[in-house]
Amino acid sequence: MEKIAQEKTPGMSRRKFLTLACTVAAGLVLGADKLAGGDKKAGKENNSRNESLNKTDKNQKNEDKKNTAENVLSMISYTNIKQLDIKKIPNIFDNLLYYFNQKIITFSDIKKAIIPPIEYAACLFFSDNYARKELPEKVSNIDTDTPFGKKMIEIANTSSEILEERPKFFLIFELYAKYFGEADCDWKKESYLFRNTSFNPVPGKSELSKNHTFAIDLYYPSKMQGEREIGPEICSLKAGIVLGCADDWQGGATESEYQGGGTSPKSGNAIIIFNPKNYELYYYAHLDSVNVKPGDFVNSGQVIGIGGNTGLNARKKGHGNHVHFEIHHYNNEKNTNDYVDVYALAETIEKTKVV
Ligand SMILES: [Zn+2]
Repeated sequence: MEKIAQEKTPGMSRRKFLTLACTVAAGLVLGADKLAGGDKKAGKENNSRNESLNKTDKNQKNEDKKNTAENVLSMISYTNIKQLDIKKIPNIFDNLLYYFNQKIITFSDIKKAIIPPIEYAACLFFSDNYARKELPEKVSNIDTDTPFGKKMIEIANTSSEILEERPKFFLIFELYAKYFGEADCDWKKESYLFRNTSFNPVPGKSELSKNHTFAIDLYYPSKMQGEREIGPEICSLKAGIVLGCADDWQGGATESEYQGGGTSPKSGNAIIIFNPKNYELYYYAHLDSVNVKPGDFVNSGQVIGIGGNTGLNARKKGHGNHVHFEIHHYNNEKNTNDYVDVYALAETIEKTKVV
Protein backbone atom coordinates (compact mmCIF):
# COMPACT_ATOMS: atom_id res chain seq x y z
CA MET A 1 0.00 0.00 0.00
CA GLU A 2 2.89 2.26 0.68
CA LYS A 3 3.83 2.01 -2.95
CA ILE A 4 0.38 2.96 -4.15
CA ALA A 5 0.39 6.09 -2.03
CA GLN A 6 3.83 6.95 -3.25
CA GLU A 7 3.09 6.61 -6.92
CA LYS A 8 -0.33 8.08 -7.27
CA THR A 9 -1.82 11.26 -6.02
CA PRO A 10 -5.34 10.86 -4.66
CA GLY A 11 -8.03 12.70 -6.65
CA MET A 12 -8.65 15.08 -3.82
CA SER A 13 -4.98 15.97 -3.66
CA ARG A 14 -4.99 16.95 -7.32
CA ARG A 15 -7.96 19.25 -6.86
CA LYS A 16 -6.23 20.83 -3.93
CA PHE A 17 -3.11 21.22 -5.98
CA LEU A 18 -4.89 23.24 -8.66
CA THR A 19 -6.17 25.70 -6.10
CA LEU A 20 -2.84 25.86 -4.40
CA ALA A 21 -0.92 26.31 -7.62
CA CYS A 22 -2.78 29.56 -8.10
CA THR A 23 -2.44 30.79 -4.55
CA VAL A 24 0.42 29.50 -2.45
CA ALA A 25 2.82 29.10 -5.34
CA ALA A 26 2.01 32.36 -7.08
CA GLY A 27 4.42 34.50 -5.11
CA LEU A 28 7.22 32.00 -5.34
CA VAL A 29 6.93 30.97 -8.96
CA LEU A 30 5.61 34.01 -10.84
CA GLY A 31 8.17 36.38 -9.38
CA ALA A 32 11.00 34.21 -10.59
CA ASP A 33 9.46 33.71 -14.06
CA LYS A 34 9.33 37.46 -14.62
CA LEU A 35 13.00 37.78 -13.83
CA ALA A 36 13.83 34.99 -16.27
CA GLY A 37 11.92 36.49 -19.26
CA GLY A 38 14.27 37.29 -22.21
CA ASP A 39 14.27 40.29 -24.61
CA LYS A 40 12.83 39.17 -28.01
CA LYS A 41 14.80 41.81 -29.94
CA ALA A 42 18.15 40.79 -28.57
CA GLY A 43 20.77 39.12 -30.84
CA LYS A 44 21.97 35.53 -30.89
CA GLU A 45 24.69 36.20 -28.36
CA ASN A 46 22.25 37.79 -26.02
CA ASN A 47 19.87 34.93 -26.50
CA SER A 48 22.41 32.34 -25.50
CA ARG A 49 23.43 34.51 -22.56
CA ASN A 50 19.78 34.75 -21.61
CA GLU A 51 19.45 31.02 -22.00
CA SER A 52 22.24 30.36 -19.58
CA LEU A 53 20.79 33.01 -17.28
CA ASN A 54 17.44 31.27 -17.57
CA LYS A 55 19.11 28.03 -16.65
CA THR A 56 20.80 29.59 -13.63
CA ASP A 57 17.54 31.24 -12.63
CA LYS A 58 15.69 27.97 -13.03
CA ASN A 59 18.25 26.15 -10.92
CA GLN A 60 18.10 28.91 -8.33
CA LYS A 61 14.31 28.78 -8.39
CA ASN A 62 14.30 25.02 -7.87
CA GLU A 63 16.87 25.36 -5.13
CA ASP A 64 14.70 27.99 -3.40
CA LYS A 65 11.65 25.79 -3.70
CA LYS A 66 13.54 22.82 -2.27
CA ASN A 67 14.73 24.91 0.67
CA THR A 68 11.24 26.25 1.34
CA ALA A 69 9.81 22.73 1.11
CA GLU A 70 12.40 21.46 3.55
CA ASN A 71 11.54 24.28 5.97
CA VAL A 72 7.87 23.35 5.77
CA LEU A 73 8.78 19.70 6.37
CA SER A 74 10.86 20.55 9.40
CA MET A 75 8.00 22.63 10.86
CA ILE A 76 5.82 19.53 10.96
CA SER A 77 8.58 17.13 12.02
CA TYR A 78 8.18 15.28 15.33
CA THR A 79 11.53 16.73 16.35
CA ASN A 80 9.98 20.22 16.39
CA ILE A 81 6.62 19.25 17.84
CA LYS A 82 7.06 21.47 20.91
CA GLN A 83 7.49 24.66 18.85
CA LEU A 84 4.68 23.79 16.47
CA ASP A 85 1.48 25.83 16.70
CA ILE A 86 -1.46 23.43 16.34
CA LYS A 87 -3.51 26.01 14.45
CA LYS A 88 -0.91 26.08 11.69
CA ILE A 89 -0.96 22.35 11.03
CA PRO A 90 -3.74 22.30 8.35
CA ASN A 91 -2.03 25.10 6.44
CA ILE A 92 1.33 23.35 6.61
CA PHE A 93 -0.31 20.27 5.09
CA ASP A 94 -1.71 22.35 2.21
CA ASN A 95 1.83 23.51 1.52
CA LEU A 96 3.23 19.98 1.79
CA LEU A 97 0.70 18.83 -0.76
CA TYR A 98 1.74 21.56 -3.17
CA TYR A 99 5.41 20.57 -2.94
CA PHE A 100 4.49 16.88 -3.18
CA ASN A 101 2.49 17.48 -6.39
CA GLN A 102 5.38 19.55 -7.77
CA LYS A 103 7.62 16.52 -7.05
CA ILE A 104 9.89 18.66 -4.90
CA ILE A 105 9.31 16.41 -1.92
CA THR A 106 8.40 12.74 -1.93
CA PHE A 107 5.95 10.72 0.11
CA SER A 108 8.91 9.16 1.86
CA ASP A 109 10.22 12.66 2.86
CA ILE A 110 6.85 13.42 4.43
CA LYS A 111 6.69 10.08 6.17
CA LYS A 112 10.20 10.49 7.54
CA ALA A 113 9.34 13.89 8.99
CA ILE A 114 6.08 13.03 10.69
CA ILE A 115 6.30 9.39 11.75
CA PRO A 116 8.21 9.33 15.04
CA PRO A 117 10.54 6.65 16.44
CA ILE A 118 9.08 3.62 18.18
CA GLU A 119 9.42 5.10 21.70
CA TYR A 120 7.16 7.98 20.69
CA ALA A 121 4.61 5.64 19.14
CA ALA A 122 4.52 3.54 22.31
CA CYS A 123 4.09 6.65 24.47
CA LEU A 124 1.31 7.98 22.24
CA PHE A 125 -0.46 4.69 22.86
CA PHE A 126 -0.15 4.83 26.68
CA SER A 127 -3.29 5.38 28.70
CA ASP A 128 -3.26 8.51 30.86
CA ASN A 129 -3.09 6.43 34.01
CA TYR A 130 -0.04 4.53 32.80
CA ALA A 131 1.74 7.63 31.45
CA ARG A 132 1.01 9.89 34.44
CA LYS A 133 1.13 7.41 37.33
CA GLU A 134 2.26 3.84 36.76
CA LEU A 135 5.25 4.47 34.51
CA PRO A 136 6.85 7.29 36.59
CA GLU A 137 6.44 5.09 39.70
CA LYS A 138 7.94 2.12 37.91
CA VAL A 139 11.10 3.93 36.88
CA SER A 140 11.61 5.98 40.05
CA ASN A 141 13.89 3.33 41.57
CA ILE A 142 15.07 1.53 38.50
CA ASP A 143 18.64 0.37 37.98
CA THR A 144 19.76 2.49 35.01
CA ASP A 145 22.87 0.37 34.38
CA THR A 146 20.97 -2.55 32.90
CA PRO A 147 19.54 -2.70 29.35
CA PHE A 148 16.10 -3.10 30.96
CA GLY A 149 16.54 0.02 33.10
CA LYS A 150 17.96 2.04 30.20
CA LYS A 151 15.05 1.15 27.93
CA MET A 152 12.45 1.93 30.61
CA ILE A 153 14.03 5.31 31.40
CA GLU A 154 14.13 6.16 27.71
CA ILE A 155 10.44 5.32 27.40
CA ALA A 156 9.53 7.28 30.56
CA ASN A 157 11.47 10.35 29.45
CA THR A 158 9.86 10.31 26.01
CA SER A 159 6.45 9.86 27.61
CA SER A 160 6.76 12.90 29.90
CA GLU A 161 8.17 14.95 27.04
CA ILE A 162 5.35 14.34 24.57
CA LEU A 163 2.35 13.82 26.85
CA GLU A 164 1.02 17.34 26.30
CA GLU A 165 1.83 17.28 22.59
CA ARG A 166 -0.60 14.48 21.79
CA PRO A 167 -3.27 16.70 20.15
CA LYS A 168 -0.69 17.90 17.61
CA PHE A 169 0.54 14.39 16.83
CA PHE A 170 -2.96 13.01 16.31
CA LEU A 171 -4.02 15.92 14.11
CA ILE A 172 -0.90 15.44 11.99
CA PHE A 173 -1.67 11.72 11.61
CA GLU A 174 -5.29 12.51 10.73
CA LEU A 175 -4.23 14.85 7.93
CA TYR A 176 -1.50 12.47 6.77
CA ALA A 177 -4.22 9.84 6.29
CA LYS A 178 -6.62 12.31 4.72
CA TYR A 179 -4.15 13.40 2.05
CA PHE A 180 -2.10 10.28 1.51
CA GLY A 181 -4.13 7.24 2.57
CA GLU A 182 -7.79 8.06 2.10
CA ALA A 183 -8.15 6.49 -1.31
CA ASP A 184 -6.44 3.27 -0.27
CA CYS A 185 -8.20 2.41 2.97
CA ASP A 186 -11.61 1.04 3.79
CA TRP A 187 -12.09 2.78 7.11
CA LYS A 188 -15.41 1.18 7.98
CA LYS A 189 -14.48 -2.46 7.55
CA GLU A 190 -13.67 -4.58 10.59
CA SER A 191 -11.81 -7.80 10.13
CA TYR A 192 -10.68 -10.96 11.83
CA LEU A 193 -7.36 -11.08 13.62
CA PHE A 194 -6.67 -14.63 12.53
CA ARG A 195 -7.20 -16.30 9.18
CA ASN A 196 -7.27 -19.74 10.68
CA THR A 197 -10.39 -20.14 12.75
CA SER A 198 -10.03 -23.81 13.59
CA PHE A 199 -9.23 -22.52 17.09
CA ASN A 200 -11.23 -20.10 19.20
CA PRO A 201 -8.97 -17.25 20.29
CA VAL A 202 -11.52 -15.37 22.39
CA PRO A 203 -11.64 -16.70 25.97
CA GLY A 204 -15.00 -17.45 27.56
CA LYS A 205 -16.51 -14.95 30.00
CA SER A 206 -15.16 -16.71 33.09
CA GLU A 207 -11.71 -16.88 31.53
CA LEU A 208 -11.92 -13.22 30.58
CA SER A 209 -12.00 -12.16 34.23
CA LYS A 210 -8.57 -13.82 34.60
CA ASN A 211 -7.34 -11.95 31.54
CA HIS A 212 -6.32 -8.29 31.77
CA THR A 213 -9.00 -5.69 32.45
CA PHE A 214 -7.56 -3.42 29.77
CA ALA A 215 -6.43 -5.91 27.14
CA ILE A 216 -7.16 -9.35 25.87
CA ASP A 217 -4.78 -12.27 25.39
CA LEU A 218 -5.85 -14.27 22.36
CA TYR A 219 -4.44 -17.80 22.41
CA TYR A 220 -3.55 -19.88 19.38
CA PRO A 221 -1.71 -23.09 18.56
CA SER A 222 1.97 -22.50 17.83
CA LYS A 223 5.17 -24.33 16.94
CA MET A 224 8.44 -24.09 18.87
CA GLN A 225 11.65 -23.19 17.10
CA GLY A 226 14.26 -23.35 19.82
CA GLU A 227 13.25 -20.63 22.27
CA ARG A 228 10.98 -19.03 19.71
CA GLU A 229 7.33 -19.79 19.24
CA ILE A 230 5.89 -19.28 15.80
CA GLY A 231 2.19 -18.56 15.75
CA PRO A 232 -0.31 -17.82 12.98
CA GLU A 233 -0.56 -14.74 10.77
CA ILE A 234 -2.04 -11.78 12.62
CA CYS A 235 -4.36 -9.51 10.64
CA SER A 236 -5.24 -5.91 11.31
CA LEU A 237 -8.67 -5.43 12.88
CA LYS A 238 -9.23 -2.09 11.16
CA ALA A 239 -7.52 0.15 8.66
CA GLY A 240 -5.01 2.64 9.96
CA ILE A 241 -1.54 4.12 10.00
CA VAL A 242 1.31 2.08 11.43
CA LEU A 243 2.62 4.55 14.00
CA GLY A 244 5.37 2.23 15.07
CA CYS A 245 6.53 -1.34 15.13
CA ALA A 246 9.52 -3.29 16.35
CA ASP A 247 10.94 -6.66 15.47
CA ASP A 248 14.32 -6.46 17.17
CA TRP A 249 13.47 -7.67 20.67
CA GLN A 250 16.16 -9.74 22.35
CA GLY A 251 15.83 -11.26 25.76
CA GLY A 252 14.46 -13.99 27.96
CA ALA A 253 11.86 -14.50 30.65
CA THR A 254 13.33 -12.11 33.21
CA GLU A 255 14.29 -8.44 33.37
CA SER A 256 17.95 -9.31 33.76
CA GLU A 257 17.87 -11.39 30.58
CA TYR A 258 16.56 -8.49 28.51
CA GLN A 259 19.18 -7.30 26.02
CA GLY A 260 17.33 -4.68 24.01
CA GLY A 261 14.82 -3.90 21.30
CA GLY A 262 11.07 -4.33 21.07
CA THR A 263 8.36 -1.77 21.67
CA SER A 264 9.09 -2.31 25.36
CA PRO A 265 10.91 -5.09 27.25
CA LYS A 266 7.60 -6.67 28.24
CA SER A 267 5.64 -6.24 25.01
CA GLY A 268 8.45 -7.56 22.82
CA ASN A 269 7.91 -7.11 19.12
CA ALA A 270 4.71 -5.16 18.65
CA ILE A 271 2.75 -3.04 16.20
CA ILE A 272 0.88 0.15 17.04
CA ILE A 273 -1.78 1.25 14.56
CA PHE A 274 -3.77 4.49 14.67
CA ASN A 275 -7.22 4.78 13.11
CA PRO A 276 -7.64 8.47 12.23
CA LYS A 277 -11.41 8.13 11.70
CA ASN A 278 -12.35 7.11 15.22
CA TYR A 279 -9.14 8.02 17.02
CA GLU A 280 -8.57 4.46 18.17
CA LEU A 281 -5.14 2.96 18.70
CA TYR A 282 -4.50 -0.77 18.34
CA TYR A 283 -1.65 -2.66 19.95
CA TYR A 284 -0.57 -6.13 18.85
CA ALA A 285 2.18 -7.50 21.08
CA HIS A 286 4.50 -10.52 21.56
CA LEU A 287 4.84 -11.03 17.81
CA ASP A 288 7.60 -13.09 16.30
CA SER A 289 7.95 -10.82 13.30
CA VAL A 290 6.20 -7.87 11.67
CA ASN A 291 5.22 -7.38 8.02
CA VAL A 292 4.73 -3.61 8.08
CA LYS A 293 6.81 -0.46 8.39
CA PRO A 294 6.20 2.76 10.32
CA GLY A 295 4.08 5.17 8.28
CA ASP A 296 2.45 2.41 6.19
CA PHE A 297 -1.27 2.44 5.67
CA VAL A 298 -2.79 -0.94 6.41
CA ASN A 299 -6.22 -2.19 5.53
CA SER A 300 -8.60 -4.17 7.65
CA GLY A 301 -7.70 -7.86 7.33
CA GLN A 302 -4.19 -7.22 6.05
CA VAL A 303 -1.52 -9.51 7.49
CA ILE A 304 0.65 -7.34 9.72
CA GLY A 305 2.80 -9.91 11.50
CA ILE A 306 3.31 -13.41 12.81
CA GLY A 307 2.41 -14.43 16.35
CA GLY A 308 5.28 -15.28 18.67
CA ASN A 309 6.54 -15.17 22.24
CA THR A 310 8.67 -12.04 22.39
CA GLY A 311 8.46 -9.93 25.54
CA LEU A 312 9.38 -10.96 29.07
CA ASN A 313 6.05 -12.43 30.17
CA ALA A 314 5.36 -14.21 26.91
CA ARG A 315 8.81 -15.85 27.09
CA LYS A 316 7.99 -17.50 30.43
CA LYS A 317 7.26 -21.21 30.10
CA GLY A 318 3.58 -21.80 29.41
CA HIS A 319 2.87 -18.09 28.90
CA GLY A 320 3.47 -17.81 25.18
CA ASN A 321 1.24 -18.70 22.23
CA HIS A 322 -0.93 -15.61 22.43
CA VAL A 323 -1.21 -12.17 20.96
CA HIS A 324 -1.75 -9.42 23.50
CA PHE A 325 -4.33 -7.12 21.92
CA GLU A 326 -5.34 -3.76 23.26
CA ILE A 327 -7.46 -0.85 22.00
CA HIS A 328 -7.18 2.67 23.36
CA HIS A 329 -9.42 5.55 22.53
CA TYR A 330 -7.99 9.03 22.37
CA ASN A 331 -10.48 11.73 23.33
CA ASN A 332 -9.62 14.73 21.25
CA GLU A 333 -11.56 17.30 23.28
CA LYS A 334 -10.28 16.21 26.67
CA ASN A 335 -6.80 15.21 25.52
CA THR A 336 -7.11 11.90 27.34
CA ASN A 337 -6.26 8.41 26.21
CA ASP A 338 -8.01 5.46 27.77
CA TYR A 339 -8.40 1.75 27.16
CA VAL A 340 -11.43 -0.04 25.84
CA ASP A 341 -12.31 -2.60 28.53
CA VAL A 342 -11.78 -6.28 27.97
CA TYR A 343 -15.46 -7.23 27.58
CA ALA A 344 -16.08 -4.69 24.86
CA LEU A 345 -12.84 -5.83 23.28
CA ALA A 346 -13.92 -9.49 23.34
CA GLU A 347 -17.21 -8.55 21.76
CA THR A 348 -15.48 -6.66 18.95
CA ILE A 349 -13.20 -9.60 18.21
CA GLU A 350 -16.06 -12.13 18.34
CA LYS A 351 -18.06 -9.99 15.95
CA THR A 352 -15.26 -9.84 13.42
CA LYS A 353 -14.29 -13.48 13.60
CA VAL A 354 -14.51 -15.34 10.33
CA VAL A 355 -15.92 -18.86 10.56
ZN1 LIG B 1 -1.38 -9.78 27.75
